[in-house]
Amino acid sequence: MGSPSILVSGASIAGPAAASWLAAAGWQVTVVERAGRLRDEGQNVDVRGVGREVLRRMGLEEAVRAHHTSETGLAFVDEPGRAYASFPAGGDDTDSSPTAELEILRGQLARLLHEHSAGAAEYLFGDRITALHDDGHGVDVELAHGQARRFDAVVIAEGSRSRTRDLVFPDARIDELGLLAAYLTLPRTADDDRQWRIHFGGRGRLVHLRPDNVGTTRAMLSVHTDLRGLDQLDREGIVAVLRATYADVGWEAPRVLAGLDNDSLHVDQIAQVRLPSWHRGRVAVLGDAAWCAGPFGTGTTSALAGAYVLAGELGATPGDVPAAFTRYERLLRPQVDRAQDFVPRVGHPRVEWHRRLLRAGLRVAGGPLGSTLARLGVFDPSLPVDIVALPDYPVRVPAGV
Ligand SMILES: Cc1cc2nc3c(=O)[nH]c(=O)nc-3n(C[C@H](O)[C@H](O)[C@H](O)COP(=O)(O)OP(=O)(O)OC[C@H]3O[C@@H](n4cnc5c(N)ncnc54)[C@H](O)[C@@H]3O)c2cc1C
Repeated sequence: MGSPSILVSGASIAGPAAASWLAAAGWQVTVVERAGRLRDEGQNVDVRGVGREVLRRMGLEEAVRAHHTSETGLAFVDEPGRAYASFPAGGDDTDSSPTAELEILRGQLARLLHEHSAGAAEYLFGDRITALHDDGHGVDVELAHGQARRFDAVVIAEGSRSRTRDLVFPDARIDELGLLAAYLTLPRTADDDRQWRIHFGGRGRLVHLRPDNVGTTRAMLSVHTDLRGLDQLDREGIVAVLRATYADVGWEAPRVLAGLDNDSLHVDQIAQVRLPSWHRGRVAVLGDAAWCAGPFGTGTTSALAGAYVLAGELGATPGDVPAAFTRYERLLRPQVDRAQDFVPRVGHPRVEWHRRLLRAGLRVAGGPLGSTLARLGVFDPSLPVDIVALPDYPVRVPAGV
């Protein structure tokens, strides 16, 4: 009998990480990605706790450290751009400091993971699953462009708005958080510093500028809004909404709005994904497609841990896919349940008194009294990034890339 075969859908973080570990566990791996190439967009993602441990076991920790975004901390700025509260980057994996020690552009991490797995897995870019049929012994898969194929298992790692998930898990619940985030890359100017700078523009609108390690500046507009269905708009529609929403915001908002036409724009309507179960027969969901918690510092870590555990369990019982998926879910649930509880509620003030209160609170937190309180743990909730202990599977992936 040949090696068991598996199709992984989605080539961002969870998909390629799973591909490496699955190939090492003896699976014949195919990865299908809807985009025509590896996607480079996105900004900083943090890798902490168990995510960092997975990278260490892949021999990638140093490579990720070498790609650090160079961000030194977080500063809140007023309309003229003066910082009124600053917070240095953190040292501990579990604290909620704005900048983690392993802080990397999402596109660069995706590339490292893709390179790590590319020699061991088949990648199909520019294609997607259109139908799946699980007959209990295998899964017949139809692709939009390629030929129909049969696999022993399928893993859906397509992010929070996964379409293939809807074919298998129609009971997925998408909890909209009412936050819209637009990410784009701008030419760096002499005034851009090495901190993540945030300006509260009022009425739930924030402007962010962050340094990167490739000589450009990463901008984000994030807004708390009651508008729904924005993900149905085309690019022009979203740009028009953002221009109207931010028209009267100061600081660097006009510069960011002027850059909205560039190709790097990526828009996310932020939602949490909740599923009563992450597997059905021989099909499982992984990463944001299964448990998206929002962009609050745990998504990449949970995706890496999930990829590792999923592959480890499939490696342990390749002949019993449903049992492996059951153990995968049992092991990981505590981690992602806690991650979904970690939603900062105060970050996008919509009314003026709230904005003033938040600014006053940040001034205190960023001053000497704040340092004392932080040392006492008052402002420093721990991020849920090491809730589960990673099992030791008898599988070793090739080190590094
Ligand atoms: C372009 C992009 C930019 C991002 N930017 C940020 C950021 O700035 N900050 C942040 O915190 N998080 C960002 N994220 C999200 C972050 O990567 C995830 O929260 C986390 O790392 C978990 O990753 P994931 O692999 O589970 O899902 P995702 O990173 O969402 O990746 C899903 C992948 O599946 C692909 N896909 C989607 N539908 C299909 C389909 N039908 N068939 C095949 N492939 C499909 C997508 O193109 C993508 O490559 C971004 C994600 C993407 C895709």
